Amino acid sequence: AVEVRGLRKAYGAHQVLRDIDLTVRPGEVVAVIGPSGSGKSTLLRVLNRLEPLDSGTVRIAGELIGYRLRGNRLHALPDRRVRRQRTGIGFVFQQFNLFAHLTALENVALAPIAAQGRPRGQVEAEARELLTRVGIGELAGAYPRRLSGGQQQRVAIARALALRPPVILFDEPTSALDPELVGEVLDVIRGLAHGGTALVIVTHEIGFAREVADTVVFLDDGAIVEQGPPAVVLDQPRHPRTQAFLSRVR
Ligand code: ATP
Ligand code: MG
Repeated sequence: AVEVRGLRKAYGAHQVLRDIDLTVRPGEVVAVIGPSGSGKSTLLRVLNRLEPLDSGTVRIAGELIGYRLRGNRLHALPDRRVRRQRTGIGFVFQQFNLFAHLTALENVALAPIAAQGRPRGQVEAEARELLTRVGIGELAGAYPRRLSGGQQQRVAIARALALRPPVILFDEPTSALDPELVGEVLDVIRGLAHGGTALVIVTHEIGFAREVADTVVFLDDGAIVEQGPPAVVLDQPRHPRTQAFLSRVR
């Protein structure tokens, strides 16, 4: 599970996240929606400690991320420990961020071998299976420049899965894709849902959120304004700010 409590984050005088409380259970799919600038990407980046937080705690599978508690004070962990924690959290970005000089297979196998220290043979066999699972098993030997945007994003998803993380964070995984490639990536994510891995998906695809999410979180100006099942938050939102946002994006 992911447990976020009292999370606050500012850039200078600009409060970007205000007292965020969020629980994501194992296997749960959470869609995060909200206006541009509302803090969605910052929330994901704080969850895997790409950004430091100002106060509050993030626990993943019971482990405090980025900090240790001494008494009731938080002390930042050394970078080396943070990097190791981060290898246990999947992250799929808007831009696929593949290594250009590595094949699809090598991109997927790199972190489990280099950061998790797992045996190469076993990791590569698993990487092939993962590429097959995301529908591009035949492209294992291809370099990113030969792959379409949708194929690259599927490699990025396989790479996240290869870490065997309890949670994968997706930041607008389809927004850099040509429209005809969006469906294939959403299909892959749909296939991961309810497979035991928790998914937190920042998305503008309201229809997709309605279909796959167990819980929809509406973030506005750094605060969770409303959260609950899609049938409530998307179809019968209680809060005027949720209603206004949804009427703009529909
Ligand atoms: P979008 O839908 O456009 O991706 P978002 O909800 O992901 O928006 P964030 O990227 O989290 O929004 O940004 C939230 C706010 O924090 C914005 O006002 C942004 O300008 C500000 N911000 C984000 N990163 C930084 C940074 N590194 N330094 C200063 N301000 C930042
Ligand atoms: Mg963003």
